[in-house]
Amino acid sequence: MFTSYLEKYEIPATRQNLETLQINLGNLCNQACRHCHVEASPKGQDNMTTAIFERILELIDQGTTKPKTVDLTGGAPEMNPNFRWFVKELKRREIDVLDRCNLTVLYESDQEDLAEFLAYHEVKIVASLPCYSEDNVDKQRGNGVFEKSIRALRQFNQLGYAKNDRLTLDLVYNPLGPSLPPSQDKLEVDYKENLMEWFGISFNHLYTITNMPIKRFLEDLKRQKKYDEYMTTLINAFNPQAAKNMMCYSLISISHDGKIYDCDFNQMTNLPSAGRPDLWSIKSFNDMIDKQITWANHCFGCSAGAGSSCGGSLT
Ligand code: SF4
Ligand code: SF4
Repeated sequence: MFTSYLEKYEIPATRQNLETLQINLGNLCNQACRHCHVEASPKGQDNMTTAIFERILELIDQGTTKPKTVDLTGGAPEMNPNFRWFVKELKRREIDVLDRCNLTVLYESDQEDLAEFLAYHEVKIVASLPCYSEDNVDKQRGNGVFEKSIRALRQFNQLGYAKNDRLTLDLVYNPLGPSLPPSQDKLEVDYKENLMEWFGISFNHLYTITNMPIKRFLEDLKRQKKYDEYMTTLINAFNPQAAKNMMCYSLISISHDGKIYDCDFNQMTNLPSAGRPDLWSIKSFNDMIDKQITWANHCFGCSAGAGSSCGGSLT
Protein backbone atom coordinates (compact mmCIF):
# COMPACT_ATOMS: atom_id res chain seq x y z
CA MET A 1 0.00 0.00 0.00
CA PHE A 2 2.83 2.43 0.85
CA THR A 3 4.41 1.94 -2.61
CA SER A 4 1.21 3.10 -4.31
CA TYR A 5 1.60 6.44 -2.50
CA LEU A 6 5.20 6.73 -3.70
CA GLU A 7 4.18 5.89 -7.27
CA LYS A 8 1.37 8.43 -7.20
CA TYR A 9 3.84 11.23 -6.42
CA GLU A 10 6.67 9.77 -8.59
CA ILE A 11 8.93 9.37 -5.57
CA PRO A 12 11.92 7.02 -6.13
CA ALA A 13 11.92 3.51 -4.70
CA THR A 14 15.73 3.19 -4.59
CA ARG A 15 18.53 4.52 -2.35
CA GLN A 16 20.06 7.70 -3.75
CA ASN A 17 23.37 7.81 -1.85
CA LEU A 18 24.89 6.51 1.37
CA GLU A 19 25.72 9.17 3.92
CA THR A 20 24.97 7.30 7.13
CA LEU A 21 25.61 3.83 8.48
CA GLN A 22 23.37 3.22 11.44
CA ILE A 23 24.73 0.34 13.46
CA ASN A 24 22.83 -1.45 16.19
CA LEU A 25 25.39 -2.76 18.66
CA GLY A 26 22.91 -5.00 20.48
CA ASN A 27 19.89 -5.10 22.75
CA LEU A 28 21.67 -4.80 26.08
CA CYS A 29 20.46 -1.69 27.92
CA ASN A 30 20.36 -0.49 31.51
CA GLN A 31 16.72 0.58 30.93
CA ALA A 32 13.57 -1.16 29.64
CA CYS A 33 11.37 1.67 28.34
CA ARG A 34 7.71 1.20 27.50
CA HIS A 35 7.96 2.46 23.92
CA CYS A 36 11.31 0.78 23.11
CA HIS A 37 11.06 -0.51 19.54
CA VAL A 38 14.14 -2.72 19.94
CA GLU A 39 12.79 -4.29 23.14
CA ALA A 40 16.12 -3.71 24.84
CA SER A 41 16.66 -4.38 28.53
CA PRO A 42 19.34 -5.32 31.09
CA LYS A 43 18.67 -8.93 30.03
CA GLY A 44 19.56 -8.29 26.34
CA GLN A 45 22.05 -10.89 25.10
CA ASP A 46 22.39 -10.03 21.40
CA ASN A 47 25.61 -8.04 21.26
CA MET A 48 27.72 -7.32 18.17
CA THR A 49 30.91 -9.38 18.17
CA THR A 50 34.44 -8.27 17.26
CA ALA A 51 34.28 -10.16 13.93
CA ILE A 52 31.26 -8.12 12.80
CA PHE A 53 32.87 -4.81 13.81
CA GLU A 54 35.97 -5.80 11.84
CA ARG A 55 33.90 -6.68 8.77
CA ILE A 56 32.22 -3.25 8.91
CA LEU A 57 35.63 -1.52 9.00
CA GLU A 58 36.81 -3.71 6.11
CA LEU A 59 33.80 -2.73 4.00
CA ILE A 60 34.34 0.96 4.82
CA ASP A 61 37.98 0.65 3.76
CA GLN A 62 37.07 -1.16 0.52
CA GLY A 63 34.61 1.52 -0.63
CA THR A 64 35.43 4.36 -3.02
CA THR A 65 33.58 6.78 -0.75
CA LYS A 66 33.32 6.68 3.03
CA PRO A 67 30.03 7.22 4.85
CA LYS A 68 29.95 10.71 6.37
CA THR A 69 28.45 9.53 9.66
CA VAL A 70 28.28 6.34 11.66
CA ASP A 71 25.28 6.40 13.97
CA LEU A 72 25.65 4.00 16.90
CA THR A 73 22.53 2.71 18.52
CA GLY A 74 21.33 -0.19 20.65
CA GLY A 75 20.25 -0.94 23.40
CA ALA A 76 22.75 1.24 25.12
CA PRO A 77 25.57 1.10 22.52
CA GLU A 78 28.14 2.10 25.15
CA MET A 79 27.52 -1.18 26.98
CA ASN A 80 28.97 -3.20 24.09
CA PRO A 81 32.55 -4.09 25.14
CA ASN A 82 33.88 -3.03 21.70
CA PHE A 83 32.23 0.39 21.76
CA ARG A 84 35.28 2.50 22.65
CA TRP A 85 37.67 0.65 20.35
CA PHE A 86 35.22 1.01 17.45
CA VAL A 87 34.72 4.74 18.06
CA LYS A 88 38.50 5.25 17.91
CA GLU A 89 38.74 3.24 14.67
CA LEU A 90 36.01 5.36 13.04
CA LYS A 91 37.56 8.63 14.18
CA ARG A 92 40.92 7.46 12.82
CA ARG A 93 39.14 7.20 9.44
CA GLU A 94 37.80 10.77 9.90
CA ILE A 95 34.18 9.63 10.08
CA ASP A 96 31.72 11.51 12.30
CA VAL A 97 30.43 9.33 15.10
CA LEU A 98 27.02 9.79 16.65
CA ASP A 99 26.11 8.04 19.89
CA ARG A 100 22.42 7.52 20.70
CA CYS A 101 22.89 7.82 24.42
CA ASN A 102 20.11 7.15 26.94
CA LEU A 103 21.95 9.44 29.45
CA THR A 104 21.41 7.15 32.46
CA VAL A 105 24.13 4.80 31.16
CA LEU A 106 26.67 7.37 32.43
CA TYR A 107 25.83 6.17 35.94
CA GLU A 108 26.39 2.48 35.37
CA SER A 109 29.21 1.12 37.51
CA ASP A 110 31.75 0.61 34.70
CA GLN A 111 30.98 3.83 32.79
CA GLU A 112 32.24 6.54 35.17
CA ASP A 113 34.54 8.05 32.52
CA LEU A 114 32.15 7.63 29.58
CA ALA A 115 31.22 11.32 29.21
CA GLU A 116 34.91 12.33 29.18
CA PHE A 117 35.66 9.64 26.57
CA LEU A 118 32.85 10.88 24.31
CA ALA A 119 33.94 14.50 24.64
CA TYR A 120 37.61 13.69 24.02
CA HIS A 121 36.72 11.91 20.75
CA GLU A 122 34.17 14.57 19.75
CA VAL A 123 31.37 12.05 19.51
CA LYS A 124 28.00 13.68 18.76
CA ILE A 125 25.39 12.87 21.38
CA VAL A 126 21.74 12.29 20.56
CA ALA A 127 19.79 11.74 23.76
CA SER A 128 16.16 10.91 24.42
CA LEU A 129 14.28 13.25 26.70
CA PRO A 130 10.62 12.70 25.78
CA CYS A 131 9.51 15.56 27.99
CA TYR A 132 10.90 18.08 30.45
CA SER A 133 8.47 16.95 33.12
CA GLU A 134 9.69 14.38 35.62
CA ASP A 135 6.35 12.54 35.79
CA ASN A 136 6.09 11.99 32.03
CA VAL A 137 9.69 10.89 31.56
CA ASP A 138 9.57 8.46 34.47
CA LYS A 139 6.24 7.10 33.22
CA GLN A 140 7.70 6.32 29.80
CA ARG A 141 11.26 5.37 30.70
CA GLY A 142 11.21 4.21 34.34
CA ASN A 143 11.46 5.64 37.85
CA GLY A 144 14.44 7.89 38.51
CA VAL A 145 15.30 8.26 34.80
CA PHE A 146 14.46 11.97 34.69
CA GLU A 147 16.73 12.93 37.58
CA LYS A 148 19.67 10.98 36.12
CA SER A 149 19.01 12.39 32.64
CA ILE A 150 19.18 15.97 33.96
CA ARG A 151 22.38 15.17 35.83
CA ALA A 152 23.93 13.67 32.67
CA LEU A 153 22.93 16.64 30.49
CA ARG A 154 24.57 19.00 33.00
CA GLN A 155 27.69 16.86 32.91
CA PHE A 156 27.80 17.03 29.10
CA ASN A 157 27.38 20.83 29.26
CA GLN A 158 30.23 21.06 31.76
CA LEU A 159 32.44 19.14 29.31
CA GLY A 160 31.63 21.67 26.57
CA TYR A 161 28.71 19.97 24.81
CA ALA A 162 26.33 22.51 23.23
CA LYS A 163 28.85 25.22 24.19
CA ASN A 164 31.64 24.36 21.80
CA ASP A 165 31.16 23.92 18.00
CA ARG A 166 32.88 20.54 18.01
CA LEU A 167 30.67 19.00 20.70
CA THR A 168 27.06 18.55 19.64
CA LEU A 169 24.28 17.58 22.00
CA ASP A 170 20.87 16.96 20.42
CA LEU A 171 17.70 15.79 22.14
CA VAL A 172 14.93 13.54 20.90
CA TYR A 173 11.24 13.90 21.65
CA ASN A 174 8.56 11.37 20.83
CA PRO A 175 4.88 11.65 21.79
CA LEU A 176 3.67 9.59 24.74
CA GLY A 177 0.66 8.21 22.86
CA PRO A 178 -0.82 7.62 19.39
CA SER A 179 -0.56 11.12 17.96
CA LEU A 180 1.78 12.93 15.59
CA PRO A 181 4.51 15.02 17.20
CA PRO A 182 3.98 18.80 17.43
CA SER A 183 6.03 21.27 15.35
CA GLN A 184 9.72 20.55 15.88
CA ASP A 185 10.77 24.21 15.69
CA LYS A 186 8.20 25.39 18.21
CA LEU A 187 8.87 22.55 20.61
CA GLU A 188 12.61 23.20 20.39
CA VAL A 189 12.03 26.79 21.52
CA ASP A 190 9.95 25.55 24.50
CA TYR A 191 12.52 22.91 25.43
CA LYS A 192 15.38 25.41 25.23
CA GLU A 193 13.61 27.98 27.38
CA ASN A 194 12.41 25.52 29.99
CA LEU A 195 15.53 23.39 30.28
CA MET A 196 17.64 26.55 30.68
CA GLU A 197 15.29 28.25 33.12
CA TRP A 198 14.55 25.22 35.30
CA PHE A 199 17.79 23.24 35.11
CA GLY A 200 20.44 25.49 33.51
CA ILE A 201 20.81 23.04 30.61
CA SER A 202 21.60 23.93 26.99
CA PHE A 203 21.53 21.74 23.88
CA ASN A 204 21.84 22.18 20.11
CA HIS A 205 18.72 20.79 18.42
CA LEU A 206 15.54 18.96 19.30
CA TYR A 207 14.41 16.14 17.00
CA THR A 208 10.75 15.19 17.06
CA ILE A 209 10.19 11.56 16.08
CA THR A 210 6.89 9.87 15.26
CA ASN A 211 6.17 6.67 17.18
CA MET A 212 6.38 3.83 14.65
CA PRO A 213 3.58 1.25 14.75
CA ILE A 214 5.93 -1.66 15.44
CA LYS A 215 7.08 -3.79 18.37
CA ARG A 216 6.21 -2.57 21.91
CA PHE A 217 4.34 0.50 20.66
CA LEU A 218 2.33 -1.68 18.26
CA GLU A 219 1.44 -4.06 21.09
CA ASP A 220 0.32 -1.08 23.17
CA LEU A 221 -1.84 0.22 20.30
CA LYS A 222 -3.46 -3.17 19.82
CA ARG A 223 -4.05 -3.60 23.54
CA GLN A 224 -5.79 -0.22 23.62
CA LYS A 225 -7.66 -1.04 20.36
CA LYS A 226 -6.15 2.08 18.78
CA TYR A 227 -4.12 0.50 15.96
CA ASP A 228 -6.60 1.23 13.13
CA GLU A 229 -7.13 4.79 14.32
CA TYR A 230 -3.38 5.46 14.50
CA MET A 231 -2.72 4.00 11.03
CA THR A 232 -5.53 6.14 9.61
CA THR A 233 -3.92 9.20 11.22
CA LEU A 234 -0.56 8.35 9.62
CA ILE A 235 -1.99 7.54 6.19
CA ASN A 236 -4.21 10.63 6.05
CA ALA A 237 -1.19 12.76 6.94
CA PHE A 238 0.97 11.41 4.05
CA ASN A 239 3.20 14.27 2.94
CA PRO A 240 5.01 13.83 -0.41
CA GLN A 241 7.62 16.45 0.53
CA ALA A 242 8.49 14.50 3.67
CA ALA A 243 8.47 11.23 1.73
CA LYS A 244 11.08 12.56 -0.71
CA ASN A 245 13.47 13.11 2.23
CA MET A 246 12.98 9.82 4.06
CA MET A 247 16.18 8.64 5.71
CA CYS A 248 16.35 5.30 3.87
CA TYR A 249 17.35 7.22 0.70
CA SER A 250 20.74 7.93 2.27
CA LEU A 251 21.13 5.44 5.15
CA ILE A 252 21.42 1.73 5.83
CA SER A 253 21.03 -0.05 9.13
CA ILE A 254 23.20 -2.95 10.27
CA SER A 255 22.09 -5.36 12.97
CA HIS A 256 24.23 -6.82 15.76
CA ASP A 257 24.62 -10.03 13.73
CA GLY A 258 25.72 -8.33 10.49
CA LYS A 259 22.46 -8.27 8.54
CA ILE A 260 21.67 -5.23 6.41
CA TYR A 261 18.36 -3.37 6.48
CA ASP A 262 17.07 -0.22 4.84
CA CYS A 263 16.48 1.34 8.26
CA ASP A 264 16.31 0.53 11.96
CA PHE A 265 12.52 0.05 11.78
CA ASN A 266 12.85 -2.58 9.05
CA GLN A 267 15.52 -4.22 11.16
CA MET A 268 13.15 -4.44 14.13
CA THR A 269 10.42 -5.93 11.94
CA ASN A 270 12.84 -8.37 10.30
CA LEU A 271 12.61 -7.01 6.74
CA PRO A 272 16.17 -7.33 5.33
CA SER A 273 17.45 -5.27 2.44
CA ALA A 274 16.37 -6.80 -0.89
CA GLY A 275 19.17 -8.78 -2.55
CA ARG A 276 21.87 -7.52 -0.13
CA PRO A 277 20.88 -9.22 3.12
CA ASP A 278 24.18 -9.13 5.03
CA LEU A 279 27.73 -7.81 5.28
CA TRP A 280 29.05 -10.79 3.30
CA SER A 281 26.80 -10.19 0.29
CA ILE A 282 28.53 -6.89 -0.63
CA LYS A 283 32.09 -5.87 -1.52
CA SER A 284 31.79 -2.37 -0.09
CA PHE A 285 28.98 -0.12 1.13
CA ASN A 286 28.90 1.50 -2.32
CA ASP A 287 26.97 -1.62 -3.40
CA MET A 288 23.97 -0.33 -1.42
CA ILE A 289 23.46 2.76 -3.62
CA ASP A 290 20.72 2.60 -6.29
CA LYS A 291 19.25 -0.46 -4.63
CA GLN A 292 15.54 -1.08 -4.16
CA ILE A 293 14.25 -0.18 -0.67
CA THR A 294 11.96 -2.63 1.14
CA TRP A 295 8.73 -0.81 2.07
CA ALA A 296 6.04 -1.76 4.58
CA ASN A 297 2.98 -0.13 6.12
CA HIS A 298 4.99 1.25 9.05
CA CYS A 299 6.71 3.52 6.46
CA PHE A 300 3.65 5.78 6.78
CA GLY A 301 5.20 6.77 10.13
CA CYS A 302 8.10 8.40 8.25
CA SER A 303 6.01 10.26 5.69
CA ALA A 304 3.25 11.61 7.98
CA GLY A 305 2.91 15.31 8.72
CA ALA A 306 6.29 17.03 8.86
CA GLY A 307 7.92 13.61 8.36
CA SER A 308 10.05 11.68 10.78
CA SER A 309 13.51 10.17 10.84
CA CYS A 310 16.24 9.40 13.34
CA GLY A 311 17.34 12.99 12.68
CA GLY A 312 13.92 14.48 13.40
CA SER A 313 11.34 15.98 11.04
CA LEU A 314 11.93 15.99 7.29
CA THR A 315 10.34 19.23 6.10
S1 SF4 B 1 17.00 3.49 26.70
FE1 SF4 B 1 16.58 3.28 24.53
S2 SF4 B 1 17.33 1.24 23.98
FE2 SF4 B 1 17.19 1.32 26.21
S3 SF4 B 1 15.17 0.45 26.66
FE3 SF4 B 1 14.95 2.69 26.54
S4 SF4 B 1 14.36 3.10 24.42
FE4 SF4 B 1 15.18 1.01 24.50
S1 SF4 C 1 10.36 2.83 7.81
FE1 SF4 C 1 12.41 2.69 6.98
S2 SF4 C 1 12.13 1.98 4.87
FE2 SF4 C 1 10.18 2.77 5.59
S3 SF4 C 1 10.18 4.93 4.95
FE3 SF4 C 1 10.92 4.85 7.06
S4 SF4 C 1 13.13 4.81 6.81
FE4 SF4 C 1 12.27 4.21 4.84
